Amino acid sequence: MAKKLVIVESPAKSKTITKYLGSDYAVLASFGHVRDLPSQNGSVEPKSNFKMNYQIKDTSQKHVTAIVKAAKEAEIVYMASDQDREGEAIAWNLAEILREKKLKTEIKRATFTEITEKAVKDGIKNARDIDYHLVDAQQARLSLDYLVGFHLSPVLWKKLPGSRSAGRVQSVALRLIVEREKEIRAFVPSEYWSLQATLNSANNEEFLSKVISFEGKKLSNAFPKNEKDASKIQEYLENAKTLIAREIESKDAKRNPFAPFNTASLQQDASNKLGFSTDRTMKTAQKLYEGIEIGSGTRGLITYMRTDGTTLSKDAVESIREYIVSQFGDKYLPKSPRIYKTKTKNAQEAHEAIRPTDISLSPEKIGKYLSSDELKLYELIWKRTLACQMSEAIFLRQSIDLSDKADKVMLRANGNVLKFDGFLKAYSVQIDEDGDGSLLPDIKIGDEVNILMPIEKKQHFTAAKPRYTEASLVKDLEELGIGRPSTYATIIKTLQDREYVHIDKRQFVPDLKGVVVTSFLKGFFTKYVEYEFTAGLEEELDIISDGKLEKLKFLRNFWDEFDAKVADSMEKDPSIISSEIAKFMQEYMFSGTHADEKQCLHCKSKNIDIKTGKFGVYVKCLDCDQNNSIDKYIAGMVITEDGEQKPSAASGTLVGKDEKGNEIFYKTGKFGPYFEAIQDGKAKRASIPAFIPEVSLENALFLLSLPKVIGKFEDKPISIGIGKFGPYVLYNGEYISIVEKEKTATLTQKEAIHIIQNKPEKKSRFAKADGTTREKKTRELGEHPKTKKQILVGKSRYGVYALYMKKFYTIKGIENAEDATLEDAINAIDNG
Ligand SMILES: [Zn+2]
Repeated sequence: MAKKLVIVESPAKSKTITKYLGSDYAVLASFGHVRDLPSQNGSVEPKSNFKMNYQIKDTSQKHVTAIVKAAKEAEIVYMASDQDREGEAIAWNLAEILREKKLKTEIKRATFTEITEKAVKDGIKNARDIDYHLVDAQQARLSLDYLVGFHLSPVLWKKLPGSRSAGRVQSVALRLIVEREKEIRAFVPSEYWSLQATLNSANNEEFLSKVISFEGKKLSNAFPKNEKDASKIQEYLENAKTLIAREIESKDAKRNPFAPFNTASLQQDASNKLGFSTDRTMKTAQKLYEGIEIGSGTRGLITYMRTDGTTLSKDAVESIREYIVSQFGDKYLPKSPRIYKTKTKNAQEAHEAIRPTDISLSPEKIGKYLSSDELKLYELIWKRTLACQMSEAIFLRQSIDLSDKADKVMLRANGNVLKFDGFLKAYSVQIDEDGDGSLLPDIKIGDEVNILMPIEKKQHFTAAKPRYTEASLVKDLEELGIGRPSTYATIIKTLQDREYVHIDKRQFVPDLKGVVVTSFLKGFFTKYVEYEFTAGLEEELDIISDGKLEKLKFLRNFWDEFDAKVADSMEKDPSIISSEIAKFMQEYMFSGTHADEKQCLHCKSKNIDIKTGKFGVYVKCLDCDQNNSIDKYIAGMVITEDGEQKPSAASGTLVGKDEKGNEIFYKTGKFGPYFEAIQDGKAKRASIPAFIPEVSLENALFLLSLPKVIGKFEDKPISIGIGKFGPYVLYNGEYISIVEKEKTATLTQKEAIHIIQNKPEKKSRFAKADGTTREKKTRELGEHPKTKKQILVGKSRYGVYALYMKKFYTIKGIENAEDATLEDAINAIDNG
């Protein structure tokens, strides 16, 4: 038996480390936390100095037994769980268990910044004692979450029938989502117009310009407000015929690379660029961190993925700089290394950014050893890390302001050209600048240019802030200081598990339960769902881990006030609670364009009340005495006398009329914003996809016309439409995705034929030996761990599915069957 025992969290990590340490060491995995606080009364005892009554988890029993047995025979135990607060707590809990067993074996704490041979050996060499400040901070966090969850949830169950549990941080995240939806519902879009003109220089060069002011008034989303006012500007320009250049600017603009990734920015970028959920990102990053077999042996490919740091180690910076010179040349290397400071205040938990452990392992080099998800995420991290030490990109920015002789109308033309790509060579980013990537003609101040007809004017509508995506929610949480790298993914998952929110088109939509819970917490636990208060608690936890605040003092401080609040709420008269919720729901449901939906669904009386009863919140009619389900209102629907669901045409914003004179409205509903036209007494709706965000009559007419035939190819019609998975061309019975989604609205017959002729080849993996293209529908994925029955995966027009025991389960969030993992499939089966 080995004399030295190393305990890590996961079997993958233990596999990697075993190879580095040799036969003197035995490596065991704890499989995460081994003890927790059972969710029963008394797991934390405020009256006994917040004593925590831990229990070994059922699933951990066998791992604990193995660890105890091995520790008895060892001379020294290295607790090498992850390097953050949670990892420190795992180390401490295991040490406590060994102490309770009266083991005398020496215990040390080792941390690895990355799972490479050098880092692991260094970690063992520099092993230290367990850091009790870090453990205190973790315990304070755990106690806080337990106390809030365990005492707040019963209040909800008693006062709000049908509600689920409430967590400390999740409730605040939920509030963000609910408040955003409330803003969206209350938003009344307003109309405005923009104008642009093509100009012609003396050298006969054409360029575009926008009207920026008229009669001293700036054009904005508040002016001009209607077509009449826009036409006035248009007519004025038509009469002016020429413009004079008044001001010319031309300058270099520099753009610096982004800081390397921390947890929050990685989650955001992976969501925006790869469409990964935070959960999927973290699971994939974990695998890259713990070690992957890459031919020359197993090794960790990235540094620890739970970090709020953006600093890089000296060694890492040096090797990145060498790599940049060898790959791109001196031009791409700044004179001195770029330094990115971490925002976090506490030094204790200041960790490195997420970076590759070896920059020379390019995605091309090791791609064949990685799964598709692993490769995508690794590539993102690799490129971002490389870019963060590269030169800035340089743009040439030009602008020319022009006005008419009387100086009444002012137009501006922009030119914007990339002069030197710098870091963009490694890491492309969306550059949101005016100008179309071309230079402006050579014009001097005082030069006259011609205005070419026609002058284009365009209708727009202001739009509400968009719903939260996982990426934007994590961004706001990080900015508000709520949650920490280890918790973002859990927060998001918990909200969905409790059915407080659901995801639609990758955006969070609050469910009724979530709205009601938020209204209750805002009314009666105001402080505890305040952003500053929650952020303040996180900061205090950081101070505890720095050893500058006592855990007990912190808990006592929190508990005394919270406990009183809970007792007080339990005694609250139901009518007080009902009226508080009614107030919030009233604003939530019937503001803005939804104002006239405030009516009884049975008798249309406006005399209604929002009530809280045994079965939750409902709408009571004071005239006909009937109860109405609240879901109908949230969906923005009104039911007619004959029971038929009919949209309330009066609500919403009039966008314009179609050629038959039918009015078209812009509305928001349960599934986001949409256009609606009433044709022959029937409502036709089209939701507004993210790639056609602009609310205009033109877009409304287009979206409402789908699916439609746009031309012919070899005598067969070509249609286009928008389906569950985005825009498509339908030809000869086959759906082909339109990859450049933005082009959908203007797709010509020629472009459609191009798409048909260049449609992606069927995957050869499933091709038959004789070369025919008939695709095999499914592939084997593995066994379900519970039943040991085979799971197959395949793709239909409705998406990727798992086939298991003769039943189909949709696997959400992925587009190709090849990307489905066994884990994805088991998840879909167990939740479906
Ligand atoms: Zn009624």
